[in-house]
Amino acid sequence: MKRYEQFPIYLSNSLSGQKEKFEPITPGFVGMYVCGPTVYNYVHLGNTRTFLTFDTLSRYFRFLGYKVRYVRNITDVGHLEGDVDEGEDKIGKKARLEQLEPMEIVKRYTEDFHNVMRTFNILPPSIEPSATGHIVEQINITKKLIDLGLAYEVNGSVYFDVKKYNTSHHYGILSGRNIEELMESGRDLDSQDEKREKIDFALWKKASPQHIMRWPSPWGEGFPGWHIECTVMSTKYLGETFDIHGGGMDLKFPHHECEIAQATGANGKTPVRYWVHSNMLTVNGQKMSKSLGNSFLPSELFSGNHPLLQKGYSPMTVRFFMLQSHYSSTLDFSNEALNAAEKGFKKLSNALALIKKTEQPKAESANTELSQQLSALADDCYKNMSDDFNTAKTLAVLFEMASRINDIKSGNIQIASISGEAFDHFKSTYIGMMEEVLGLKEEVSSDNSLLDGTIKVLIELRKKARTDRNYALSDKIRDDLKAIGVQLKDGKDGEMSYEVE
Ligand SMILES: [Zn+2]
Repeated sequence: MKRYEQFPIYLSNSLSGQKEKFEPITPGFVGMYVCGPTVYNYVHLGNTRTFLTFDTLSRYFRFLGYKVRYVRNITDVGHLEGDVDEGEDKIGKKARLEQLEPMEIVKRYTEDFHNVMRTFNILPPSIEPSATGHIVEQINITKKLIDLGLAYEVNGSVYFDVKKYNTSHHYGILSGRNIEELMESGRDLDSQDEKREKIDFALWKKASPQHIMRWPSPWGEGFPGWHIECTVMSTKYLGETFDIHGGGMDLKFPHHECEIAQATGANGKTPVRYWVHSNMLTVNGQKMSKSLGNSFLPSELFSGNHPLLQKGYSPMTVRFFMLQSHYSSTLDFSNEALNAAEKGFKKLSNALALIKKTEQPKAESANTELSQQLSALADDCYKNMSDDFNTAKTLAVLFEMASRINDIKSGNIQIASISGEAFDHFKSTYIGMMEEVLGLKEEVSSDNSLLDGTIKVLIELRKKARTDRNYALSDKIRDDLKAIGVQLKDGKDGEMSYEVE
């Protein structure tokens, strides 16, 4: 029996608003598409939370024995300012401001993104396609939508006809938006506008003379709209209908609603079985945003170099912190919460190091009740993860398990009284859940040996100063080290040791 049969997954489907049993299209296989970053700026923490969510999903699917194809794109063209159809291309604008080629912008921020993902131990997707690599496919689907009467061309741009689509399908099926209300609200179209209705959206935009990123098309030189790239790349690598589509909550409308309309219109079938959305980050109860001055970059969080942070936190502390809440709830950043996470992660990490070293000697007469308790704890991890990927509850069980690991270490629990089967299940689950599913690895403080070496050099200098009867220098070395929290201790035999306060 496969593990996924033993612990079937139930997940919240944004499409139905219900928690549903996960049934993949092909048994044993999972196809998942997640909207990746627009690479025109440093990746911020809110994005990181989204990618951590889907990293956890793909890790757990694999842990249960599924084969996963995880596609996460790179948006390197077509995403206009304000997420609407007018305005400058985000990458083109940055290129103009920094006087760089758009490809230089894309490379710089894609590398930053990958570095941040690696630092947080977020595994790479199986395929990472880019929008500029799929211009031909985007032109082809746009042609198809025009042929089907679901899109129209005006002055070299092509728009999707939402009203027409809605006569035979349901625009708003995902977001719950009502097409009549959408048509009423917002700015009225004027004579400058090319769209027939303000809810129509661009599939292809004509490039103005100063627009840098442009490709030839049947409608003249231009560039693709933002929504169409995801439709093209998800269908190309996962098929016209695939299992899971994920992204941040803010993408539900219009981006994901438009994806559904384009794909359903072009292929005549629903593109996605389960839509999964991860929630936002807040800071001290406020939405994280650049304009409020309360957004920070991962690097600022690690160094503590930000007015809102008391100190720096390690990547695994932050990862642990984010996993402490369910992906569909908002998550609030505060120094108190991060400090608590630091302690919590340390406890789990210490237990991880302990259990890895613990081998069970030949079991004697097993205590059935104890063995069952330990086995049940291990099962609870699976049950919680299979219940809509509840990392918060899983961590609570891991704390319980960490206490048992400490009991084994202290001798409060006799290791020989646990049945061999229960011990193996307990141990492999703790290690597997920590490292493979939650991606929480032990952190070694990399600068310890450096610090140790530096202090030893200073100790040698102080010894030399004393031999030379240069007591002023010797005292200065001692006092200055004390000021930064390093206490030197003079031994009886002239040896010196130190302690970090
Ligand atoms: Zn997308």
